[in-house]
Amino acid sequence: KLASRELQQKNTVVKVGSASFGGNSIPVIAGPCAIESYEQLYQAGVSAKAAGAAMLRGGAYKPRTSPYSFQGLEKKGLEIIKKVGRELALPVISEVTDPRNVELMAEYVDMLQIGTRNMQNFVLLKEAALSKKPVLLKRGLAATIEEWLMAAEYILSSGNNQIVLCERGIRTYEPYTRNTLDLTAVPIIKHLSHLPVIVDPSHGTGSWRWVSPMAKAAIAAGADGLLIEMHQNPEEALSDGPQSLTPENFARLMVELSSLTTVL
Ligand code: PEP
Ligand code: MN
Repeated sequence: KLASRELQQKNTVVKVGSASFGGNSIPVIAGPCAIESYEQLYQAGVSAKAAGAAMLRGGAYKPRTSPYSFQGLEKKGLEIIKKVGRELALPVISEVTDPRNVELMAEYVDMLQIGTRNMQNFVLLKEAALSKKPVLLKRGLAATIEEWLMAAEYILSSGNNQIVLCERGIRTYEPYTRNTLDLTAVPIIKHLSHLPVIVDPSHGTGSWRWVSPMAKAAIAAGADGLLIEMHQNPEEALSDGPQSLTPENFARLMVELSSLTTVL
């Protein structure tokens, strides 16, 4: 299999502008769950960059559990994230939810995110691969590691090896957390595959309180990066406020992480 460590011993390094996953650095992708306005994303970008984030995130198409929840600014959101990314010199990432949007999104973002609900949307995976953009492939919320790697295989076999895997928690019986963050997946993926793997403790826990400890645990487990949701005012966020760090808490986490990586 193309993703397997047996086939390729050397780690694949995925470059997204100035950020690089799978090499010596540990890039952190930060930003709000959803793009809400230019001002909101710009402020988030300034805070993210000041704290040391390597990439800015923000959803323009939001796959919400309820169709009555905020669905995202769509193309307007893409215009905003591209503009903010250029102004702050930060590579940007946003989720693509529809194969018909891949071409459009590729004009606006530096990396395409495939969300948990679409991990096995094989038409979308193939279409994303053909765009030649780097792809962040989140683990399906009830996917085994094998199924996740097979999803990556769809992208690889369509001629795109610029894939970063993202552990974001799986559905279990435990109600204290939104998902159960499976950090065992990190060393297992590193063992099985040459692809970089990052961790999203925001969706992985669902609560800002557990984000920092699990972010640190992810790095200790060998993760190649992190994805962290951050909002200027989490209480007012249109999406995922309860799991979003304030800029202050995000900055504190980044300081703690930097001392951790020198220890490691
Ligand atoms: C997100 O990153 O905002 C998101 C929707 O993530 P997931 O697909 O992991 O739920
Ligand atoms: Mn979210």
